[in-house]
Amino acid sequence: MLVGVPKEIKNHEYRVGLTPPSVRELALRGHEVIVQQGAGEQIGLSDEQYVAAGATIVDTAKDIFARADMVVKVKEPQPAECAMLREGQVLYTYLHLAPDPEQTAALVKSGAVCIAYETITGPGGGLPLLAPMSEVAGRMAIQAGAAHLEKSKGGMGLLLGGVPGVAAGHVVIIGAGVVGTNALQMAVGTGARVTVLDKNIDRLRQLDLVFGNRITTMYSNAHAIEEAVVSSDLVIGGVLVPGAAAPKLVTRDMISRMQKGAVVVDVAIDQGGCFETSHATTHADPTFVVDGVIHYCVANMPGAVARTSTFALNNATIGHAVALATKGWRQALRDDVHLRNGLNVCQGKVTYEAVARDLQYDY
Ligand code: NAD
Repeated sequence: MLVGVPKEIKNHEYRVGLTPPSVRELALRGHEVIVQQGAGEQIGLSDEQYVAAGATIVDTAKDIFARADMVVKVKEPQPAECAMLREGQVLYTYLHLAPDPEQTAALVKSGAVCIAYETITGPGGGLPLLAPMSEVAGRMAIQAGAAHLEKSKGGMGLLLGGVPGVAAGHVVIIGAGVVGTNALQMAVGTGARVTVLDKNIDRLRQLDLVFGNRITTMYSNAHAIEEAVVSSDLVIGGVLVPGAAAPKLVTRDMISRMQKGAVVVDVAIDQGGCFETSHATTHADPTFVVDGVIHYCVANMPGAVARTSTFALNNATIGHAVALATKGWRQALRDDVHLRNGLNVCQGKVTYEAVARDLQYDY
């Protein structure tokens, strides 16, 4: 199969659909890969590295869309890209169609076979092509929080781990899923005092077994959240209620009772956020202050570490990319129910129930 990788064109998107090691995996199996010139340049992946891995470099996105049997990307296709998609061409990328009627209509019109990373399921449950970005965001949350506790960033001037003779900071993590667990690992690593809250007691049990007395686990309810938050230096919000907006677990009153110069990082902001005082921010202007508390609410945190995010994403996407290229999309989808769950639009029809329902397409 001929696989094509265009350069991402969404604003401030530096990730790329395939890394050179992923290109090599496809080339080893006899597939031809074409990569748009400069596709990985911004994250240190040169055209020479792609050629060494077995790709051919082409000049424009038009060359990719006109020739490739399968286009591999990161972000949802922009209108100019949708217009270049062809009947029967496979598009393998994040789509997030439910809130995006324009893109959905364009994909339906294109006749392409559109497989969305975010709805591909895994044998053990969960969404394995979303998980790497939650891992990145969870780890980054502590990094971003620690940086904003510094005076120069407006924080109270606190070193999370303390030093001998000076108490460590108190990190509170609400939600112990993928984001929360990765934040927890980083927070424990800094030497901070860590409290983690979740409604899922089994999850708290697992963390207790691994981290023992290095963390405090608490069942999440209004009382426990209030107690933890008002005594914290850094709060990470990583809750998710599937298919729903994030619950506002931290009230404005709790924020007003926190120490001045404390920091909150609302990772769940892409689902509306779990702090009453949150609103989405960007990497260009990531924070704002409410009642003296710094709020970091960037909706696409992994974009800041686009190189790490690209490799993490490729680790999760390459297996299905190889299957699609080797078997063809029909057979690959027939053989794997989890990959089939990724099919959102197919040759003029919306094929994902929730998208069809939300945007009123026949299903
Ligand atoms: P997850 O499903 O792995 O974990 C969510 C956890 O929240 C679960 O353990 C669940 O039991 C817990 N939870 C639900 N209700 C709760 C409550 N009332 N109190 C405490 N815990 C509760 O999800 P995840 O992958 O960790 O993602 C978390 C959020 O982060 C999602 O909204 C996701 O979209 C978002 N996210 C944001 C970014 C970003 O750049 N801002 C990046 C990746 C993920």
